This record gives sequence, C-alpha cells and structure tokens, in this order.
Amino acid sequence: MLLARLPVPVAPARHETLASYLARLAALHGLDSRELWEPVSCPQPGTRRRRIHVDRLAAVVGRPATTLARALPELRDPAPDWVAWRHQPQPRCPRCDARHDGGPVQRLLPHHRYVCTRHRYWIGPPDAGQPASPLSDPDLHDVIRAQRRHTQLVRRYGSVAAFDAVLTGFLICGHIWDDAVEGWSATTDRWTRRGHALIPVGLETNEFSAARLFAAVYPEAVDFGQLIAAPAWRNLAAGDANEQERFISEVGRRRGRPDYRPPKSGDAIAHWMNYDSWRPPSRPHTTFPDTRLHGAAGLVRADRRAIERTQRGALWFAANRRGGGIVLHHRHLRPVLMRDWSPQMDGIAATVWATGTTTHPVGLCI
Ligand SMILES: [Zn+2]
Repeated sequence: MLLARLPVPVAPARHETLASYLARLAALHGLDSRELWEPVSCPQPGTRRRRIHVDRLAAVVGRPATTLARALPELRDPAPDWVAWRHQPQPRCPRCDARHDGGPVQRLLPHHRYVCTRHRYWIGPPDAGQPASPLSDPDLHDVIRAQRRHTQLVRRYGSVAAFDAVLTGFLICGHIWDDAVEGWSATTDRWTRRGHALIPVGLETNEFSAARLFAAVYPEAVDFGQLIAAPAWRNLAAGDANEQERFISEVGRRRGRPDYRPPKSGDAIAHWMNYDSWRPPSRPHTTFPDTRLHGAAGLVRADRRAIERTQRGALWFAANRRGGGIVLHHRHLRPVLMRDWSPQMDGIAATVWATGTTTHPVGLCI
C-alpha cells in the first residue's frame, strides 16, 4: 500500500526515535500509527521488528532522507556507535519538547546528557515516566555547571571512559550518602540541601523521583569522575602503597577532607582502587538495538512495577531524607555495580554492599 505525501509538515526532533516520530505524524493526521508504519516499512522475518524504507518515509513526509537520518539515529547508515547512547528512550526538557507537536517526544540521548543547559532542566537518567525538573533554585546551579564539566570529560577521554567514570562517581556518592560515614557531613549536607530544592519536605508523594536524587549528587559524581577517567590518576590508584597514598590525598583535597583515609574494612573508593581501577572501563550492558523497541512501533511507557518502586522510594525518602540507597539500587548503576569481573552475589542488596567495602565473604575470589 502506498501512501500519498502527508499534508502537515512535521520535522523530527533531534535524536528522536522512529516510533516517536511516526506516532506524532499519525496523531497529527488522524491516522492509526499502523497505517503509517506499514506503507513505509516491511517486516523482518522471525521478529516483531520492521525495516524502514527510508526513501518511502522521505517521500511521505516530504523531507530528504539525509535530513531525516541526521535527526533520527535509527535511520543512519552506517549505524551510530550505539555504545555511546542510552538504550532507553526518554523525553528531553519540556521546553525543548514543546517545539514539537503531535504528542510526547521520545529521544535516544547520549550517556552523558543529564542536563538541558539551555533551559536549565535536569533530564536525568531514564526513570519511571518522571518529567524533567527545573534547576532554577540557586542551590542547583552546581548541577548545571557539572554538565559542562561532564561534557569536557567525554571530549577528553572518550564516551566509554566518561560513562564508567561518572557512573562510578554516582556509586561512590550513593555509598557515602547511604552509609552516613563520619567525616563526610559537609558533602552529605550539600546533597540534603539540593534534595530539599528538588523534592520539598512534605511533598515527597508528588515530587519524588529517583532521577532527582541523581541530580542531588551529580556535581560530586562528576568530581569523582574527573579522577576516575584520568589515566594518570587511575595508575596511581592501582599502584604501590605510596602511589595509592597520593591518590587518596587527592580525593581528600578535592572533597575538603585533608584527613580522609578509607576505613579498615574499606569503602567504595577503596573498593574501586583495589578491584576496578586497573581494569578497563565498564561498558553499558545493553544497547538500543538489543531492545525490543528497536524497529518496533511501541513507545516507552512506565510499567506498573516501576511506578510502585517510585511510590516505595517516596515513602522511604520522606521518612529519612537520605537518598543514597535509592541511587545505589537504581538500574542506571548496574554496569558499574555488576562489572564483568564482579563476584556473583546473592541478590541486589549483597551486590550493593560488596561495592562499598574491601571485605568479601569467604569463598569468593576476585
Ligand atoms: Zn531544553
């Protein structure tokens, strides 16, 4: 079935998924999205995926195929380096998305995109359908600046090193906040303050999201990431006792804790130094083409379990206002929580615990 050129001109958003673009086109023309998918694609045998005919789509929307491919990563030939992109589509900031009619815009964002610096919104990691959060409060301006430092990290060391470094930074911050370790109160007070700005006390039921807790620790996660991504600092972290001492002093200096030393049983920083710093950076576990969304008409919707998780998280956070445990248990951290060489632990709680110590149960070898 051929389809005539559609009358309403609709431009794709930058990095939009094909499913999102076709859903908006269909909505604006009063079509079912299947009526649009079928004329511009063919089924891939043995799968539920469909292969897009770029030239047919270009003819239907009246835009050159090259223009479409610039905006829609799935149409690029050769394919993009999917390792540099998140595997879950998500919205950008509401002001970026408001320029595009026809319904919600879902985009594939690079791993390092957490903030819309232009409109000052926290986009965050993909979360259970939570909208982006404004960063207008002065306590949150560090979060905007951290995005710029994070982007520099990608330029300097590449996307894989920066991905591993900032996720490891989140992991370390999560442990410091969750364990309430003595000596870190200046840092955790800052997270509590940002937490107040992002999720006001008493409004947790409506305002809580795990993604906002990632925002609270993001500047310090990037601080740690700057050390973790740098080969010179990694070498010191993995070196002899004197070299490790230099690394530890630098951590303390940057965090305003010249007295900092890891405790005897270790902490998340010592864990990373001992077990991970001398290995290659960890990579994403999944890329977009591995997911069922690739080449499929479906849009991402928050599932019931994710919504329930958010509701439980809101209750927990309302009770103690400490967000470290929620950050640590969020699936966004899985690539650095369960590294290729991590010992198999019994459940997620044990896996989280293991990354915050240098003590391991008898019988587990690393
Ligand atoms: Zn924006």
